[in-house]
Amino acid sequence: MNKINSSKWLIATIFFLCLVNVLFAQSLLLGQYHQIRERSIDILHYKAEFSFDFHEKQIAGKATLIFVPLSKLQTFSLDAIRLKIAEVNLAQKSMTQPLAFNYHDWILEITLDQAYSPNDTLMITIDYSAQPNAGLYFLKDYNHEGQYYIYSYGEGGLHANWLPIYNDVNDKFSTEMEVTVPQPYRVISNGKLVGVEQKSNGNQTFHWKQDLPHSNYLLAIYVGEFEKGNLQPAFGEIPLSYWVPKGRLKEGAFAFRNTTKMVEFFSSKFNYKYPWDKYDQVAFPDYAIGAMEHTSVSGHRESVLRDESAPDNFGPPDFNRYCHVWSADGLISHELAHHWFGNNLTCRSLSYIWLNESFATYCNMLWDEEWLGKDAFDLVRREALDRYLNYVAKNHTIRPLEYAYYETPSDAYIIEITYFKGALILHTLRNILGDEDFFRAMSYFLHKHEFSSVISSDFKIAIEEVIGKNLDWFFDDWIYGAGHPIFEVSYNYLANKKLIDLTVKQIQPVIEGQDLFTLPAEITIATSKGTKTENIWVKNKVDQFLLKCDEPPLMVSFDDEGALVSEIRFDKSDKE
Ligand SMILES: [Zn+2]
Repeated sequence: MNKINSSKWLIATIFFLCLVNVLFAQSLLLGQYHQIRERSIDILHYKAEFSFDFHEKQIAGKATLIFVPLSKLQTFSLDAIRLKIAEVNLAQKSMTQPLAFNYHDWILEITLDQAYSPNDTLMITIDYSAQPNAGLYFLKDYNHEGQYYIYSYGEGGLHANWLPIYNDVNDKFSTEMEVTVPQPYRVISNGKLVGVEQKSNGNQTFHWKQDLPHSNYLLAIYVGEFEKGNLQPAFGEIPLSYWVPKGRLKEGAFAFRNTTKMVEFFSSKFNYKYPWDKYDQVAFPDYAIGAMEHTSVSGHRESVLRDESAPDNFGPPDFNRYCHVWSADGLISHELAHHWFGNNLTCRSLSYIWLNESFATYCNMLWDEEWLGKDAFDLVRREALDRYLNYVAKNHTIRPLEYAYYETPSDAYIIEITYFKGALILHTLRNILGDEDFFRAMSYFLHKHEFSSVISSDFKIAIEEVIGKNLDWFFDDWIYGAGHPIFEVSYNYLANKKLIDLTVKQIQPVIEGQDLFTLPAEITIATSKGTKTENIWVKNKVDQFLLKCDEPPLMVSFDDEGALVSEIRFDKSDKE
């Protein structure tokens, strides 16, 4: 190759590499703007009474709502997807009065007999039927000819397919379910089982009541021929049970064996005792959702049911299992942790879903740290970081944790970002604040906003109030900003001055949503005399640090603990 051809080749190569860079540069995931939904009423209590036609997959029901208008109004709406509304009545004292209603575009518009103000508390009843396509699912029980299982799933507003309800997350109310089923079915739902009424035709009505308020998507019913097993009550007083298909109690006892310890662990870690009436876990056949944290009753796939002696055939290693004995603790601790973050404090809209999911994911890492030790915790974090970095590398997209722009709800639930990156960001925050202050702030956040809806700034303000730290910079980079830093680190040893001259460059592309990051980082220096750490703050495109070191270092490491969400390029000599 002659010189001219060689330089042409070089130019072509550079052009190609630039093109690849342009083509594959990251970009901010864009979408339609979603604001927090406006409400016209505040629901205080919601009661649903219903029975099923199992073969037709239909329900016939009556919903009772107690509510307060949020401004003077005579007409208000509820979400009601493909429901057949028979009648709407206003209940006043011992009288009921039929109300006019209009049903269009899956909205039930109800006109009250007169205008009411926020000083009025009203009660209405709605008689209706439904053949839901979503939200409530009828499955054949293949072990018992002619029998069914039923479960509900409400995230994304799906409960409006079988309940006339306000189907966004920013209203919380107490709930009640009165569900009538034939033998041998049992019904499991939120809160306390108030009673089971035997009907003259052999049917049974299960009456469940939850007094503490929660959002509509956390309502649940599970119907099937279940058996119930009891676990050791948490703190000797909070009832904990598991419900399994007939004949599988032993496997249930094994799968859910650590639940009591988990309830006590999270209660003490956050200095906030598990507040709900009880905790039930249902192992459900063909539970398409995987796992779901309905208030006081989480659903799991039947595949969590394992016998202690069963061979480990759960597939390749995954996020949920780093122990020598098979365990579904990752899932179990995640759904349980939502009972603090998600069910108690609830994101005010999907834009803030990280307040549910990142927190619950970090909690299942905390359980690993507690139960399996630091190595397992570090390993789980490392895998989460790899999955996040691989996602960005493969998809070339970044997305802030708080973000109101999305096309479909699944954009908000990107597991590598909302779950893994968010959890790792909480770990970074824990490193910045220190254990004591971090968990004190988490506890204060819970107490301050208990049973209400929250946005990211509520968390930031809670930290400021309880430990006095202003975290604008952290939230700007990590919660409202997207992406992550790529650090290029190098050093020289200045023998005459006995200093390490360390250079840290941020080489990530500065694009919309991703700028330079401000962060504390730990430098580990190993010499023949031992190892020491130095803390530095990086914030510029290029930062330079002079660190004392009496002899040429054997090794210098940047973020040795892997506490940061970052990529680190730090070339080492073979010796190092
Ligand atoms: Zn979750």
